[in-house]
Amino acid sequence: MADFEKLEPDSTVYRTLLESTKAIPWKIDWDSKQFAYIGPQIEALLGWAPASWQTVGDWASRMHPQDREWVLNFCVAQSQAGVDHEADYRALTRDGHYVWIRDVVHVVRRADGSVDSLIGFMFDISERKQTEQKLASLQKELEELSFRDGLTGVANRRRFDALMELEWSNARRNRQPLSLLMIDIDYFKQYNDCYGHLEGDACLKRVAWLLASAATRARDLLARFGGEEFVLLLPETDESASLKLAARCRDLILAEQIPHAQSAVGPVLTISVGAATCIPAHADELRGFLDGVDKRLYRAKQQGRDCIVAAS
Ligand code: GH3
Ligand code: MG
Ligand code: MG
Repeated sequence: MADFEKLEPDSTVYRTLLESTKAIPWKIDWDSKQFAYIGPQIEALLGWAPASWQTVGDWASRMHPQDREWVLNFCVAQSQAGVDHEADYRALTRDGHYVWIRDVVHVVRRADGSVDSLIGFMFDISERKQTEQKLASLQKELEELSFRDGLTGVANRRRFDALMELEWSNARRNRQPLSLLMIDIDYFKQYNDCYGHLEGDACLKRVAWLLASAATRARDLLARFGGEEFVLLLPETDESASLKLAARCRDLILAEQIPHAQSAVGPVLTISVGAATCIPAHADELRGFLDGVDKRLYRAKQQGRDCIVAAS
């Protein structure tokens, strides 16, 4: 405290303090919109000499075009209202790059309340922004991963549940048919028993890849429903188109000729498919639709497997 009191209100002291900090101080006269002062550190940061900062226009013109409009509107409105504020934006460097700046602005008012000037500090926040961007992309990556099945890389059950619900209400609203195929590998327990769990995993990946290649439209979704069971969600797809797709899935797996010595169906791996199509009416429940598809898959199993059941 005592040391503080010794500090004289000497402008050279303040100037030295201001010009030795990393933050760049500035002052703008409100009436003329001219810079009354800008710290010499600005040149080290952006490359523009202090003398080249004459007016608010110079400041605005050295701002990224995508930031300019909202920053100007925001800062002018806040200043007119006499409210201290801060804004993050990209400032143009003399050699044509951009640096993220945080401008912290204090509004100085006269005794009558009118705005006299703005004083502020510019902070170089590019490092912080880089960290933020890295975090955001990491977050995005994590979100994406959380919707993907760890083994096969196709959409997982969570993704399916969310999209199924969305497409169900879309179909109801737009009165469009929605189809769903439930696909289950035949005698997969025996496959594991015969070839081992790792071979089983590799087989699941191969099947997932083949099934994914069968669906061609952007909104089609193949997901791993659980274990050796997959679902193919087909928005805006009628029954005949969905049955063609079911047949294609079955053919693709057969054509792959994956040996399955323990299958009671035959020497190669096969799938069973339950298929359903619906234009949801208001009374229809998604739950009931899913149960229906599941029952058809069960019937395909009962009918000897390696087949498609589409009728209830
Ligand atoms: P069905 O023809 O009636 O469908 O008989 P299934 O043997 O295929 O069906 P079941 O439900 O009896 O067994 C499914 C098997 O799938 C049991 C399990 O070991 C295997 N399985 C489930 N998830 C995985 C996995 O991630 N990796 C491997 N390797 N096997 C899995
Ligand atoms: Mg099975
Ligand atoms: Mg199963």
